[in-house]
Amino acid sequence: MARYTGPACRLCRRVGEKLFLKGERCFTPKCAIERRRTPPGDRSQRRRRISDHGIQLKEKQKARYMYGVMERQFSRYMDQAFKKPGVTGQYLMELLERRLDNAVYRLGFCDSRRQARQLVLHGHFAVNGRKTKIPSYALSQGDVITWKESHKERDFFKAFTEDIPKRPVPQWLNLDTTHMSGTVASMPAAEDLEQAIDTRLIVEYYSR
Ligand code: SF4
Repeated sequence: MARYTGPACRLCRRVGEKLFLKGERCFTPKCAIERRRTPPGDRSQRRRRISDHGIQLKEKQKARYMYGVMERQFSRYMDQAFKKPGVTGQYLMELLERRLDNAVYRLGFCDSRRQARQLVLHGHFAVNGRKTKIPSYALSQGDVITWKESHKERDFFKAFTEDIPKRPVPQWLNLDTTHMSGTVASMPAAEDLEQAIDTRLIVEYYSR
């Protein structure tokens, strides 16, 4: 299962905005975007005029980096979105939001999607009572995400959960703080996104 293993801050500098990939650190002055907003690379100081294609590409990369999705998987999501009747961009966002690692993050069970992916891969979560180790697992309405019972005694569980919820939980998820579980109440809508993504540009990029 391929994944990006390089520095997270480099991705933010590449698109020129905060993508909140490192949890708490993103809200401190140590954030690389706060300190140096220029793109990485030797020729970063050179002024460049970005073409329309460049703008579309940047928006696609931003969505990809935010959700931690590799190129091939992203283009598979795009294929699925094109086949679905209705607004393509909206369905693309729905597919990205419905990922299990994203839901774990949006429920506030951890600080970042990267951390969520790690936790899922290590088997800390169950969907409808069954251990699920696939970060891209597509959740459906009514699915219940729970921590594995045996992992609730571990220190990291206590650390992650003592100040929950840090962030507002989106409307499509219901958080049960007593049992530390989340339920998919509905399918995610455009207004449920944490950060604005111009899906129109992404659809244009793939429609060339
Ligand atoms: Fe991006 Fe967070 Fe790094 Fe800032 S600290 S550059 S928001 S990953």
